[in-house]
Amino acid sequence: MAKYTGPSCRLCRREGEKLYLKGNRCYNIAEDGSNKDLCPFDKKDHKVIPPGPQRNGRKKNSDYSQQLREKQKCKRIYGLLEKQFYGYYKQAEGMKGITGENMLILIERRLDNVVYLMGIATSRAQARQVVCHGHITVNGKKVDIPSYLVKAGDVIEVKSEKADNKFFQALKDATIKSTLPAWVTFDRVALKGEVLSLPTREDIDSKIKEHMIVELYSK
Ligand code: SF4
Repeated sequence: MAKYTGPSCRLCRREGEKLYLKGNRCYNIAEDGSNKDLCPFDKKDHKVIPPGPQRNGRKKNSDYSQQLREKQKCKRIYGLLEKQFYGYYKQAEGMKGITGENMLILIERRLDNVVYLMGIATSRAQARQVVCHGHITVNGKKVDIPSYLVKAGDVIEVKSEKADNKFFQALKDATIKSTLPAWVTFDRVALKGEVLSLPTREDIDSKIKEHMIVELYSK
């Protein structure tokens, strides 16, 4: 299963905004729970420059470049590579409704994303690892496929044998940032949550302009 293994902050610098790829560090929470300016975007007197050679002169701002940046940003937020991401677009294209919204909803339903939203992991990358290592069950059965699409009514739980693990015990620690949306629940003590309904576009807390991604792919 291919994944990006380079530095995460580089991706944020490329997009010129925080993509929240490194968990608590992105919220300036250090490992000991103290607050420090850890994200380059929040450091005082620190100018964030895009990676690569700096070109002076007119910055490209064509429709194409804006659409491309939007697509890259979305891929990077969810930790997907091009082939997987394009696969969601193709799947959404064949569905009823608005292609861009359907595509985002499909991606949002990925098990690794739901594990992240429930606060079981501090970043989507960590959530993917938790799923791949077989720590999660869906409706009582182990699922170690991060791209598994959850359905309404699915019960997602940390495997009972793993619940005493230091990592999962730390979930009860209030310093872990959780972004629980209305369509899922999670009980930090029982380490168990439920998918109440499928997400809608309004439930997806992201500033992604999905119509631009559809415009790019439909050229
Ligand atoms: Fe991006 Fe800041 Fe997190 Fe690095 S620390 S991944 S720059 S949000």
